Amino acid sequence: MIPAPFDYLAPTSVEEALAALTEHGDDAKILAGGQSLLPVLRMRLNAPEVVIDLGKIEALRGVRDDGDAIVIGAMTTHAAVLEDPLIKQHAPLIAEATETVADRQVRHRGTFGGALAHADPAGDLPAVALALDAEFVIVGPNGRRTVPARDFFVDYLTTALEDGELLVEVRIPKLSGDWGMHYEKFNRVAQAWSIVAVAACVRQEGGKIAEARVGLTNMGPTPLRASGVEAALTGADATAEAIAAAAEHAAEGTHPSSDLNAQADYRERLATVLTRRAVSAAVGL
Ligand SMILES: Cc1cc2nc3c(=O)[nH]c(=O)nc-3n(C[C@H](O)[C@H](O)[C@H](O)COP(=O)(O)OP(=O)(O)OC[C@H]3O[C@@H](n4cnc5c(N)ncnc54)[C@H](O)[C@@H]3O)c2cc1C
Repeated sequence: MIPAPFDYLAPTSVEEALAALTEHGDDAKILAGGQSLLPVLRMRLNAPEVVIDLGKIEALRGVRDDGDAIVIGAMTTHAAVLEDPLIKQHAPLIAEATETVADRQVRHRGTFGGALAHADPAGDLPAVALALDAEFVIVGPNGRRTVPARDFFVDYLTTALEDGELLVEVRIPKLSGDWGMHYEKFNRVAQAWSIVAVAACVRQEGGKIAEARVGLTNMGPTPLRASGVEAALTGADATAEAIAAAAEHAAEGTHPSSDLNAQADYRERLATVLTRRAVSAAVGL
């Protein structure tokens, strides 16, 4: 289908984009890579009067080192994320998950910030951001604010972004070398969305698991932390048996949907299996 007609604006600075958002309010929609928004417009599930394209705002692209964190600009494409040396060094989990996102064409247009702002529960990057304790830097009419990942994902396709606000960058705290990470995704065919996926970050100390963070994809309307697994892993031996026992808690507190791809109970079972695999890989087993 063809989208309903709209006016197109292409600001070259964040300030111009904010001014356009303020002027057009509810009638405007932000365009990043368009990989989720354009299908929505073509199906006429949304018909904004104005589309504000962030593609010409160079300040929103790229990855920089900011001491104890790396900072990823919202308009950094998935393809650029995959090639970035800072991400490879300090947050390889992001690269690992991004490699599973769609196909090359989508990864060349789709952006890191767009995928997070869209907040699809089957999207791969939200659970990764949650496991890495990312912080979302948002600007709007009232200035700049930072929202931790645990407060950013509010509900199905809904984030803490308010009307008139833009996601400008995402801060990823650097994790030291004693952390291991792994993203384990289950889908039926290559280049498809996750039926369930698990992002695991684990710090070991003297053969024991000192700290664990486990993010779940598609186990509810938002990405979730598997807090039962994290509690069971903390202080446990870094062995296959201890990890398998902890992974049994993976579905606790989750609310997976039933759809054409999988029933909820199947997703619960998958979460357990994928958590065991993700944590085992993160500790090097
Ligand atoms: C065929 C196909 C397969 C895919 N498979 C996967 C997959 O396996 N895994 C996966 O994770 N994703 C997948 N995706 C989605 C892909 O990751 C998209 O890149 C992503 O969902 C949206 O990013 P975008 O930059 O294209 O955003 P857009 O589509 O431009 O925008 C998405 C939404 O976010 C809002 N938005 C965008 N940027 C900002 C911002 N800076 N501030 C505020 N609001 C903003 C927009 O207004 C819109 O509502 C797939 C997409 C396609 C088309």
